[in-house]
Amino acid sequence: MTKVYYNGDAKDQLLQGKTVAIVGYGSQGHAHAQNLRDSGVNVVVGLRKGKSWDQAEQDGFTVLSVKDAVQQAEVVMVLLPDEYQPKVYNEEILPGLKPGKSLVFAHGFNIHFNQIVAPEFVDVFLVAPKGPGHLVRRTYEEGAGVPALFAVFQDVTGEAKDVALAYAKAIGSARAGVLETTFKEETETDLFGEQAVLCGGLTSLVKAGFETLVEAGYQPEVAYFECLHELKLIVDLMYEGGMEGMRYSISDTAQWGDFVSGPRVVDERSKAQMKKVLEDIQTGKFAKGWILENQANRPEFTAINNRENEHLIEKVGAQLREMMPFVKKQKKEAVIASAK
Ligand code: NDP
Ligand code: MG
Ligand code: MG
Repeated sequence: MTKVYYNGDAKDQLLQGKTVAIVGYGSQGHAHAQNLRDSGVNVVVGLRKGKSWDQAEQDGFTVLSVKDAVQQAEVVMVLLPDEYQPKVYNEEILPGLKPGKSLVFAHGFNIHFNQIVAPEFVDVFLVAPKGPGHLVRRTYEEGAGVPALFAVFQDVTGEAKDVALAYAKAIGSARAGVLETTFKEETETDLFGEQAVLCGGLTSLVKAGFETLVEAGYQPEVAYFECLHELKLIVDLMYEGGMEGMRYSISDTAQWGDFVSGPRVVDERSKAQMKKVLEDIQTGKFAKGWILENQANRPEFTAINNRENEHLIEKVGAQLREMMPFVKKQKKEAVIASAK
């Protein structure tokens, strides 16, 4: 097992007396800002005028322009959407970076793919909680924390690792455990996970299953329940007890079907495709496509998104969820939690 760092490994004094600028107040930003403040760290929030600005002020923070927040801080945590970070960095963050300051991220994409080039006189590291911001905040309030990864990209002061651990402690993550990684590993595994398994793999699997049933003449409503709705129950069981825990709870018939049919659906060909997906991530091909797509104002992203939203599974799902107010309520919270 790789080394896991806990509260006892962190030197809190490294953040005491310093000011941390939290740039962005969305999913991660609001949670980091509030947890740091509750841990006794001086926080300012850097934003443009708008919804997040009002919210951060309402939550009692000193809110400044990104430029002013960076000027005042020794530690600058960049929690803007990854696509917008390079522009804001060049225009508003870079001018305020001075020797000895720390430039911090929660995801390695822009540093790893060279979209943000940090001056050689600042420490650069990442602290990436392995959960959405609302969970980072809620677990902290409950006295626990969401595990996190940290990585040091550039260490000028000789203290980058210790400041990263102090930061991880202050947001509650070192209560649960913090693992060391590199910018390369964090970025590539994060992209691969969401593309091949968590988001891309899953939605394609669900759609293919749904379409197979509907094309065979079964009712879309029934297909929806079997291929999408029940997923949550299975995922919850896997989250709690791994595959063994999930298989313990399902029927033996389901478990036998899992054993004999699962490997027929996701087989060596799928794994060969996964290796290609990984290769495109490793070579920078995926990153390049996504960066250019954003520069072109997202024509393909928009077209695919519109087409996906028109899929029969979405129409049927919307109607069925109307019948299940308990699902709708949970869904709203989850959407807010992940969209914030
Ligand atoms: P969100 O989209 O939730 O939040 C974005 C914030 O940035 C908002 O407060 C928004 O304010 C602000 N913002 C956007 N554009 C600008 C701008 N031009 N100038 C100033 N402020 C701006 O981001 P996330 O919290 O999801 O992501 C932040 C980072 O954390 C990313 O690097 C991401 O990869 C990483 N991360 C995210 C996780 C998650 O679960 N969401 C998990 C782990 C890491 P406004 O209201 O004005 O638009
Ligand atoms: Mg990601
Ligand atoms: Mg069943």
